[in-house]
Amino acid sequence: MSAGREVLVVTGGTRGIGAAVTRAAHARGYAVCAGYASDDASADRLRAELPGVVVVRADVADPASVAALFDAAEAALGPVTALVNNAGIPGRLGRHVDAPVEMLRRVLDVNVLGTMLCAREALRRWEARGTAGRIVNVSSRAAALGSPGEYVHYAASKAAVETFTVGLAKEVGAAGVRVNCVAPGTIRTDIHAAAGDATRPDRVAARVPLGRPGEPEEIAAAVVWLLSDEASYVTGAVLQAGGGL
Ligand code: NAP
Repeated sequence: MSAGREVLVVTGGTRGIGAAVTRAAHARGYAVCAGYASDDASADRLRAELPGVVVVRADVADPASVAALFDAAEAALGPVTALVNNAGIPGRLGRHVDAPVEMLRRVLDVNVLGTMLCAREALRRWEARGTAGRIVNVSSRAAALGSPGEYVHYAASKAAVETFTVGLAKEVGAAGVRVNCVAPGTIRTDIHAAAGDATRPDRVAARVPLGRPGEPEEIAAAVVWLLSDEASYVTGAVLQAGGGL
């Protein structure tokens, strides 16, 4: 651990967009702790690829697990200075009338409560130390578009993430903490297969003004910019990264 080092926690940092954030931040000199939920194989691949990255299994929807994630990051890397709330799940594609309550509860727990718990954990540590920090949340263009017939519950959970960003940025601005959000459009990751349609990115490409799905690296670039001092006067922003959608 060295004084002044940037230490970043990325939730869901072992696959998809989160892994791209882990790689981009690592390349820029951040010490990175990547959290994940249960996919040990992806976690092991990231460990092998980036031995300097600390990889921790931790459920963002569980407060004790969130505290353990930050404890593990700080034990290995030093005080956390930045957080990317990337972990998220879509539930299953389908009409809301058919949505099981267990699925709805889990999507809200992970996407909304998880984002809130991780932000609270970071803020508590920064407040106790009298330091500032930066948070970037990951929402979705679904928050504005609503995703009818697909996953309105997911869209609503991401709208909550955006409102949380706006309010929290105002609440903690005086402490020098910046809170921003990136709202990706359709990005090529395994999340679509998890929702029940691996072909979704190509299916929706025709609706996207730029004519194609995005790549995880294109979202990671927006995230690391918001984390950086180049965005020093940006807070409470929701940066649309949806190819025009
Ligand atoms: P992904 O490929 O499915 O990866 C999700 C990551 O989040 C995995 O590392 C997963 O861990 C982790 N995760 C899931 N539930 C968790 C929990 N309870 N606690 C801790 N970690 C958990 O997803 P992605 O496409 O990269 O999406 C990343 C973020 O971008 C999500 O918030 C998603 O809603 C948002 N987003 C994605 C798209 C898109 O088109 N891909 C568009 C808009 C917004 P495991 O590996 O252990 O499962």
